Amino acid sequence: MIPVKGYAAQDPQTDLAPWSFERREVGPHDVQFDILFCGVCHSDLHQIKNDWFPGIFPMVPGHEIVGRVVKVGDHVKNFKVGDLAGTGCMVDSCQVCENCKQDLEQYCLEGSTLTYNSYERDGKTPTYGGYSNSIVVREEFVLHISEKLDLAATAPLLCAGITTYSPLRHWQVGKGHKLAVLGLGGLGHMAVKFGVAFGADVTVLSTSPGKEADAKKLGAHHFVVTTDPEQLKAAQGSYDFILDTVSAEHDFNMYLGLLRTNGVHICVGVPPKPAAVAAFSLIGGRKSLAGSSIGGIAETQEMLDFCAEHDIVSDIEIIDIKNITESYKRMLKGDVRYRFVIDMSTL
Ligand code: NAP
Ligand code: ZN
Repeated sequence: MIPVKGYAAQDPQTDLAPWSFERREVGPHDVQFDILFCGVCHSDLHQIKNDWFPGIFPMVPGHEIVGRVVKVGDHVKNFKVGDLAGTGCMVDSCQVCENCKQDLEQYCLEGSTLTYNSYERDGKTPTYGGYSNSIVVREEFVLHISEKLDLAATAPLLCAGITTYSPLRHWQVGKGHKLAVLGLGGLGHMAVKFGVAFGADVTVLSTSPGKEADAKKLGAHHFVVTTDPEQLKAAQGSYDFILDTVSAEHDFNMYLGLLRTNGVHICVGVPPKPAAVAAFSLIGGRKSLAGSSIGGIAETQEMLDFCAEHDIVSDIEIIDIKNITESYKRMLKGDVRYRFVIDMSTL
């Protein structure tokens, strides 16, 4: 076994703290890479707090992982020692179901193996995430990272990037579409960058008036403060798509009113509690309420290559891992510009 240092939550009540554990030896199809940076996703906070379901503890969060390969198994073809590598939210899947065969491992019918708070295919070995100094992942779930981009700012692409890229591609959002990005946080700011890159007319819908200048710098064409009744009224019936990245409870009916006829409200944010949606909010204007989860491995590589080609990375604040609890507090207040990334050399 390989000894690893990390930060873990021992239970939902206790703050993250240093924790040592072991990873499996590098198998014939595995890649081991030393983690240099790991992004901090709101999903990390949801999971250590049991917001969604009872988690597997001790829990080492982190699924926006980048680093350098230190060892490869005998049968590994696409990576060599010294390469940059990344891993996002998944480390395995059945690879034979109908969805896996279509490069939709995130919708694996057997359930994909998540990077942490999950079990390996054996159903009993817990997985541990990227708030740690090294990781072993099977080759098919390791991504190539360009040497051209800033490495720390690339880490958030592995979750915030693909989670917003995938639905925008699926619904073919682009030229001629009015796209509203709901919530300007880690996912939201990437959605703005991709929406603009794909040619859409992009509006940020935000509860934070102070983020307007940033939204415009990110490329957004319009900014609506959703807590201002006048601005909300003016935005009624405006958008073809709303990409909803909100992490907390919010009123879907209010936002559905902002869609045009045939508009689609796409949920990627996962508030802890279910929402009440009135049928009336959907039937008037034939609107759709949809959802999307991360993206498949091939699409994640496509997104990373797109970002390298178009010079797209995340706007980040690098943190020392000792300040992780403080960073979570700021994230809950919406005070992240726009992704915290842990410098793993501080571990
Ligand atoms: P984040 O950085 O904390 O951003 C969330 C943003 O939502 C905040 O910055 C804030 O933006 C807005 N917001 C917060 N509370 C709100 C409220 N009560 N009403 C309206 N807006 C509110 O979080 P993130 O890392 O981007 O993650 C966002 C959500 O996506 C989380 O629930 C996360 O678990 C989920 N997620 C889903 C997937 C997936 O595959 N579907 C993948 C990754 C993450 P403003 O200040 O602009 O209002
Ligand atoms: Zn995430």
